[in-house]
Amino acid sequence: MGRERDGAGAHGPETESLEEAGSSEPAADRVRLVTGMPPAGTSDHDKIRRGVRLLIEGMGDDPDRPGVRATPERVARMFDEVYGGLHVDPRDVVDVVFEEGHDELVLVRDIPVASMCEHHMVPFIGRAHVGYIPNTRGQVTGLSKLARLVDVVSRRPNLQERMTATIADTLEEVLEPRGVIVIIEAEHLCMTMRGVRKPGSVTVTSAVRGRMRDDPRTRSEAMALATGRSPGAR
Ligand SMILES: [Zn+2]
Repeated sequence: MGRERDGAGAHGPETESLEEAGSSEPAADRVRLVTGMPPAGTSDHDKIRRGVRLLIEGMGDDPDRPGVRATPERVARMFDEVYGGLHVDPRDVVDVVFEEGHDELVLVRDIPVASMCEHHMVPFIGRAHVGYIPNTRGQVTGLSKLARLVDVVSRRPNLQERMTATIADTLEEVLEPRGVIVIIEAEHLCMTMRGVRKPGSVTVTSAVRGRMRDDPRTRSEAMALATGRSPGAR
């Protein structure tokens, strides 16, 4: 019938052999690939494998059944990607270039965010809007570096509030800008799949620094630009 792979599902034998073929690739290389930075350390795959096997056992499943037998190894490799940011200093991501005379708001909107809630180890997914007003010395960074910064900070066990503040503080420290604004809007699967079960609810966090914090008009203009809503609208 041509259904010999029946029951293997989307992550069947083919996927597995692909993953195994690449398993000689050092963890540090995978972290460098996803973060764009040489990592200062790596995860301990042996501990993760043992831990995941124990989790499967603990939940009452059979860790030796074919479907999950390779899951500990898969999870260990996945952690290089989703937690790779633990081994990279976000300040290294933002390089400073000088552009004389640009002293207006620089804002990148709708940067995709996919991170893991550190309380439940399930994802939260959404968008970030990141902006800053350069200092008079014209210290700026490449627009792609703002997206890269969000990406690296999101690859850690996270709280959305802390993640938002970390992005703002990193920009403030490296670029010494006159103002910073970071807004993250995300749906938390720990609210969708369990607990209050409110699918579609979006958590919004913001962090403002410098002029964005001290000048209400500058802040509301930046907020409006970042979220695509008119100033004053709720
Ligand atoms: Zn959670």
